[in-house]
Amino acid sequence: MVFFDVGSAKSELEDYYDVVIIGGGPAGLTAAIYAKQSGLSALVLEKDLEGGYMNLTELVENYPGFTSIRGEELGAKMAEHATHFGANLYTDSAEKIELSDGEKIVHLESGKKVRTKVVIVATGSKPRQLGVPGEEEFRARGVSYCATCDGHFFKDGHVVVVGGGNSAFDESLFLAKIVKKVTIVHILEKPTADARLREKVKANDKIEYKPLTELVRIEGDEKVRRVILKDLKTNEEYSMDVDGVFIFVGMVPNSQILEGLADFDQWGYVITDENMETRTPGIFAVGDVRSKNLRQIITAASDGAIAAYTAAHKYFE
Ligand SMILES: Cc1cc2nc3c(=O)[nH]c(=O)nc-3n(C[C@H](O)[C@H](O)[C@H](O)COP(=O)(O)OP(=O)(O)OC[C@H]3O[C@@H](n4cnc5c(N)ncnc54)[C@H](O)[C@@H]3O)c2cc1C
Repeated sequence: MVFFDVGSAKSELEDYYDVVIIGGGPAGLTAAIYAKQSGLSALVLEKDLEGGYMNLTELVENYPGFTSIRGEELGAKMAEHATHFGANLYTDSAEKIELSDGEKIVHLESGKKVRTKVVIVATGSKPRQLGVPGEEEFRARGVSYCATCDGHFFKDGHVVVVGGGNSAFDESLFLAKIVKKVTIVHILEKPTADARLREKVKANDKIEYKPLTELVRIEGDEKVRRVILKDLKTNEEYSMDVDGVFIFVGMVPNSQILEGLADFDQWGYVITDENMETRTPGIFAVGDVRSKNLRQIITAASDGAIAAYTAAHKYFE
């Protein structure tokens, strides 16, 4: 379903923008809306598809104004909103930020460069890998990090989900609509997912939850056939036949572009002040890439608004 043809809203790259926003998820698109409303020229660089992680979320049920909306639709609405106010969307990956005579130069993967006064980094995060044998070998051949993207490949099959947090439980509920059986394995005794999700999983006949269980190895031939699990109470290993493995063991921030320009917490998330500014004046970090307590669409949007508002008042008045 096409909600909004982002392609038709793409613009040519100019030499200079007041604000260059790296990442077109909810944080970056909201920053673009607020930058435009402050009268600034704004470029959003997105290497993939505007909407960011929202594109991989089946239903969003906690964004104010929408009791339930497909993530992809919310992402498209935000992109449309940003272009409606005149933000420029451009498809490319930002590789490096160079400081030069009071300006910043953003270097793109294509070899192009763009000058700006303010950079807002809204690059989000990516799934953490488990690091077990077979994970890399069977990636895209049965190993996945996204149920919304790959769940349909396992119709009527048996999949194992690794993890015990909100993502693992949420994605298991989604998978249970497609597959015959979902087995969740988690190394801890108790899940860390919210009570609401725990109840839903408990009530779902298709989902089995195995606490104190470690996924040790993934095996197969041209595709995944089985996993080797370890019972952490007895230390015994055993094999379980599965068609797919979904891994949800946390996220790692896409913060490399700020190396040498910002400080990071112990997990690599970017440390900012309360106005989202890093230690380098004029460089901001917003959304999931930032060190904070709650990583959600609403907090990503809030960060983006604060950064653009601050940038407009601090650097353009
Ligand atoms: C499975 C799952 C379900 C979720 N469900 C919900 C939910 O129901 N409700 C909710 O509020 N939140 C939910 N979230 C969290 C929410 O999706 C995130 O908090 C939010 O998307 C973060 O927004 P962001 O803009 O910071 O980053 P992202 O949405 O990750 O967007 C970052 C964008 O930056 C781009 N990018 C990265 N590096 C570069 C680069 N170098 N150059 C150019 N572009 C780049 C990426 O391609 C991406 O599009 C969920 C998350 C997951 C993993």
